[in-house]
Amino acid sequence: MQDLDEFRQEVRQWLEANCPPSQRQPITPPEQYWGGRRGSFPSEDARIWFERMRDRGWIAPDWPTRYGGGGLSDRESRVIKQEMQRIRARTPLYGIGLWMLGPALLEYGNEAQKQRHIRAIINGESRWAQGYSEPGAGSDLASLQCRAQDMGDHFLVNGSKIWTTAADKCDWIFCLVRTNTEVKKQEGISFLLIDMDDPGISTTPIALISGESEFCQTFFDNVKVPKENLVGELNKGWSVAKALLVHERKLMAEMGSDSPRKVVAPNEAARKYLEFDNGRITDAQLRSDLVDYNMQMHAIALTHFRTFEEKASGVRSAAPLAMKYLGTEAEKTKSELLLAIMGSRGLGWEGEGFTTEELDTLRLWAMSKAMTIAGGSSEIQLNVIAKSVLELPQQAEK
Ligand SMILES: Cc1cc2nc3c(=O)[nH]c(=O)nc-3n(C[C@H](O)[C@H](O)[C@H](O)COP(=O)(O)OP(=O)(O)OC[C@H]3O[C@@H](n4cnc5c(N)ncnc54)[C@H](O)[C@@H]3O)c2cc1C
Repeated sequence: MQDLDEFRQEVRQWLEANCPPSQRQPITPPEQYWGGRRGSFPSEDARIWFERMRDRGWIAPDWPTRYGGGGLSDRESRVIKQEMQRIRARTPLYGIGLWMLGPALLEYGNEAQKQRHIRAIINGESRWAQGYSEPGAGSDLASLQCRAQDMGDHFLVNGSKIWTTAADKCDWIFCLVRTNTEVKKQEGISFLLIDMDDPGISTTPIALISGESEFCQTFFDNVKVPKENLVGELNKGWSVAKALLVHERKLMAEMGSDSPRKVVAPNEAARKYLEFDNGRITDAQLRSDLVDYNMQMHAIALTHFRTFEEKASGVRSAAPLAMKYLGTEAEKTKSELLLAIMGSRGLGWEGEGFTTEELDTLRLWAMSKAMTIAGGSSEIQLNVIAKSVLELPQQAEK
């Protein structure tokens, strides 16, 4: 393996030469590229930046080269991420195919599935939705009812999925479906890849209080799914589902620290909006809250570093299980703190008289609450920590 410092220099030079200046700015949602058949680049520079990163193998630096990845080690991949953050380079491609499905397929998919889907994800050719939650199965995911009947050469899928983010814009959906109703609920679930263009699939957007509509309910009405789209073994989909959730929770744990949104950092906001006396923030409560927040963030950053090093060295540790909870709750604290610091300047939703950063703060505040629910709510994460990490006794059934 190449020396890591040398590699860092190489990465730095390459990014310097290849990342367009316009792609080194904080990003807003309309400027993100999500790929897919219906996707388009928000700008010519975004296209150039994506194509250069794709050709270099750095869209998924740690995935195998035979599927279009960079074939790099965890440590080398982290160097790329750090160097991108150093120059505030934008993420060239967003998507749950890249963040969640890809890693799970690399572990559980067969060769044909990897050949078909992994490169398409990296190339931005397919955008994926997640079909886990149902109207009666969220935290208690294993209760899901969406049914896939074995019809010999295909499965027949009937039911619905809810909170499917951007399903109306996606090309494919990975779904948890019930393939056996006679056994313990976790043992009758399978993991299917379904083309959103298949006859019988429809989506209904769910209106949100913001006026936007990020979510859909997705309906399956006698949808024929080829047998080759089953990932892993029949009725063993729960293992694939859990592996994928680990990637989802890791992503969400790191979201705050990686976010290139235009929102200001609390320390910066304090300098801009608060009164100081002799170098000290005059409001004692805010001063104390800001110190608490900074200490918490420092502890989280150190724990991220520790979990990364443990993984890279092959050490199994319980810390990653706590990171989704800690990371998303810290994001919530940050947005509350920002609003407290900014006062009425942080309360604008749209219109003139506010800076983009100020308007983004309230959006971050609303989104931070959603992040403590998506991918498993904070209460569920605490249950997982209590059971799997602390090995606390479970509450007796009444
Ligand atoms: C931004 C966002 C994006 C999402 N995207 C997707 C997506 O693309 N695809 C998808 O399939 N799903 C998606 N979801 C859905 C998400 O997975 C569920 O919202 C989540 O799992 C919680 O399920 P629920 O909404 O049914 O709440 P419920 O399970 O009904 O929970 C309601 C409340 O009860 C609490 N609770 C439930 N059970 C327990 C328990 N045993 N102990 C203690 N407290 C408990 C919960 O913590 C929560 O506060 C998304 C959600 C959000 C917020």
